[in-house]
Formats: sequence, C-alpha cells, structure tokens
Amino acid sequence: MSNKTAVGKAAATKRGTGRTAEAKLADLRVRLAEISDLNGAGALLTWDQATYMPPGGSAVRARQGATLSRLAHEKFTDPEIGRLLDSLTVYADGLPKDSDDAALIRVARRDYDKAAKVPAAFVARMTEVGSASYDAWTRARPANDFATMRPYLEQMLDLSRQYAGYLGPYRHIADPLIDGPDEGMTVASVRALFSELRAALVPMVRAIAAQPVADDSCLRRAFPEDRQLALGLQAIRRFGYDFARGRLDKTHHPFCTKFGPGDVRITTRVKENDFGEALFSTLHETGHALYEQGVDPRYGGTPLDSGASSGVHESQSRLWENVVGRSRAFWEYFYPIARKAFPEQLGKVPLEAFYRAINKVERSLIRTDADEVTYNLHVMLRFDIELDLLEGRLEVKHLPEVWRARFATDFDLTPPDDRDGCLQDVHWYAGTVGGAFQGYTIGNILSAQFYAAALKAHPEIADEIAAGAFGTLHGWLNKRLYRYGRKYSPADVVKRATGKPMTLQPYLTYLRGKYGELYKLPV
Ligand code: ZN
Repeated sequence: MSNKTAVGKAAATKRGTGRTAEAKLADLRVRLAEISDLNGAGALLTWDQATYMPPGGSAVRARQGATLSRLAHEKFTDPEIGRLLDSLTVYADGLPKDSDDAALIRVARRDYDKAAKVPAAFVARMTEVGSASYDAWTRARPANDFATMRPYLEQMLDLSRQYAGYLGPYRHIADPLIDGPDEGMTVASVRALFSELRAALVPMVRAIAAQPVADDSCLRRAFPEDRQLALGLQAIRRFGYDFARGRLDKTHHPFCTKFGPGDVRITTRVKENDFGEALFSTLHETGHALYEQGVDPRYGGTPLDSGASSGVHESQSRLWENVVGRSRAFWEYFYPIARKAFPEQLGKVPLEAFYRAINKVERSLIRTDADEVTYNLHVMLRFDIELDLLEGRLEVKHLPEVWRARFATDFDLTPPDDRDGCLQDVHWYAGTVGGAFQGYTIGNILSAQFYAAALKAHPEIADEIAAGAFGTLHGWLNKRLYRYGRKYSPADVVKRATGKPMTLQPYLTYLRGKYGELYKLPV
C-alpha cells in the first residue's frame, strides 16, 4: 500500500502545478468548507422561516435563500474544484481503502460531476418554478384545485425530464433522479424490491382488513400542548438526543436540519386532540437527528458530514419512531410516564389497549398518516405513477382519475377529492417528479435490518428498552453507521453494519411477528 501511495503522490505532483497532493487537498477542504458555510447559513434561514419568522419576512427570505444557494452552486462548480479533483483522483487511488481523505475525494467528485453537468441557468429555473409551484400548492390543496396545479406539474415534469437528461446517460429516465438521493439504486432494482415486498404485504393487509378495526379513541382525547411537548422531550432525552448540540421547536411540517456537527435541530407539530401527532413526529425527527449528531465531527465542513442516502437516513427515523417507539417494550417503560402526564386521559386505559391503538392498521387516504403495514403501498402507488408520467405513458391531465383508479385497486377506497388524492404530497409540486418516494420504503426495509443486526450483536437491547435504557442500541448505531456519514456508499455501509446487502427478510419477519401477534394472523 505504501508503495502505491508514493507512486500516487509522485504522479499527482507531476501532473499538477508543482503543489503537492496534500496542499491541493488542503485547498479543496478550504473551498468545500466555504460552500458548507453558505449551505449551513441557507439551512438556518430555512429553519427560521419554518419556526419563528414573521409572515412579513417571506419575500425577502426567498431572495436571501436563492442568493445563498446560487453562491454555493457557483463556488462548487468553479472549474478550479474540477481541476483539484482531477489531480487528486490519482492521489486518492493510492490511499488506503479506508482513508477518510480518499472518501472525501470520492464523494466530492460524485457531487461535483453531478452539479457540473447541470447549467446554472437551469438550476435557477428549476428553483424558480419549484417555489412558484409550491406557493400555488399551499393554496390549491386546501381548495381541492387540481386545475390550478396542472400547468405547474406539467412544467415540473418537463424540467424533471430535462434534469435527467443533463445527468444521463441512463437506462431508465428515472435512474438519475433516483441515484441522486439513493446512490446505487435504479428503477430496475427498486421495482424488484417493491414487487417482492408487495407480494407479501397485499395478503397481510387483506387479512388485517377482514378483522374489526382497532379502537384508538383513547388517542383522540384532549391532550394539552405543553404536556405533549414535555413528554416528547423526556423520550428523546432518553434516546440520547444531545440538547447541547440541538433543540426542538414547533413548525407546520416537522423536519430535522443540520448547520454543522454541533448544531442539529428538530421540529415537531402538536394537535391537541391527537396524542400521537407530536410524539411520533418528534421520535421520527430524532432518529434523523441522532444519525446527524453521530457523524464524526472531523467531517464537519465537508460533503461527508451527512447521512449516506435518503433511504439509509429514513431507516433511522423509522427505527426510532416505529421499531423502538411503537414497540411493546418501549411502552412498558414509557406508558407509566405518559399516564402520569395525562392521568385523566390515559389513567383508565390499559397498556394493551393503548399499544393496539398506536399500532392500528387501517387502509386510509393519507400517506403521512398511514400505519406501518399499509404505508409502503402508498409509496409504491406514487413510484409507479411517477414512472408513467416520466415515460410519457400518463399525461398530467389524467393524473386525478388514474390516482383514484389505482387507489381503489390498492386500498379498496376511492379518494373523495384530489385534496386527499393526487394533491396530498408536496413532492411533485415543489421538486422533481421522480426520486423522492422510494427512500421511504427503503428506509422501512433497512430499519428492521439495522435493528436485527444490533439485536444479534447485543441480545440485551430488548430488555434494556423495556427498562428505558437506549445506550447499547444508540452506541451500536453510532459505531456501525452514524459516525461514517457519507464515507461509505449506502450499499457499503449497510453491508458493513449488518453483514449483508439490503434484504427484505428482517422487515418481513418484523411485520409478521408484530402484526401477526396483534391481529392473530396465520403465519
Ligand atoms: Zn423522515
């Protein structure tokens, strides 16, 4: 290895302008840190907009955000970065396989190549149409007004196709759109995964639907906001969320955001007539935040300082929200605490009834409210429809009727309107059509795979959760996954942590075990 390194260094020096590879790497790091600062400042402005900004700030804020993202894009696509990466690629080849520097060069190269393929004017156009479309959607959805959104969606679809064209060549037009958030995945691999999962889910959903619907009325009583927020804070403090490097605030659409290794924030929303809304969205965003807080702080200011992919990220939100947060073990510990917070509301509700209520399975209209079993069918519906749109087999004007027909097939339900049909998710109306949904289901699949691997290494985790101790699980995830950030590709980090490539089996075992018991399904 050392021989190869020496050769790499010599080559890098010869090809460059006399500077050593180390000097060039230092130069690259300075540039990447500046870009990271601009992006961090932009993220802070977005966080402020979603939490505390008065409404009057929105026009100027939109411009400020656009300015920062344009500056970051310009700095990142500076040809000098391309030249530095060109000469450092040889150097990286000579470094040990596990080297952080080699990973930094690989990841920066991947991001740079993608960014450099897309003209700045196109990026600006996409941002502009996206934000106008988003703005229109915030009014059109409550008004059930698909007609207003149709021209926007036609434009977004057209831009998505162009975007894929810039990023190509590709086998399927959606491949480059998927590879962005979920590196290494393609239409073909997602389709194969989804069809296997679908074959297992459909009979499970049918068997559950044949039984009486679980009673979750205990979750619909009056739960005062301050006590809901305090309860969520108690849970995530136990999970290990570090408040010296984070905070929780209220917003309309919960999210997690990172400004740097020492500042990873989460938001939640509260419904006073719904026990689960604030708590489970807090646990979900905490999963994202634990991942980000766990990334090696030495990666700060570089593209390595974030999760491996959208699917791997989502696996952590799902692990903490569902695999832990909706487990019987967790509630053995946490239910007495919740009852103490809400004695009038939950005092007479037995643990078992509460556990059934928070795990109620029901075919329903809205993806974000869906239970663990039916959730993935919502994702598959969107995935198939967006492929049809991108391939030109479906015209935007026919989307509402196609959505209703497919929904009836998959859920035995017909959405009464577009508001709770094809207008419900913001994704197509604010970003690309394609690439945004598969990560949710990949996340569900991986949540069980990571948890099973942690449990195999530390069988005591289950008992610890029931006792309110999460350190072993959190520690294992930190050590095997979180600290690496983007150092390894999604496929590599899954394999390193769990010993296997992504596989459906742990997730099916999890669903069959949990819901088989809850609904007494034949195994
Ligand atoms: Zn999430």
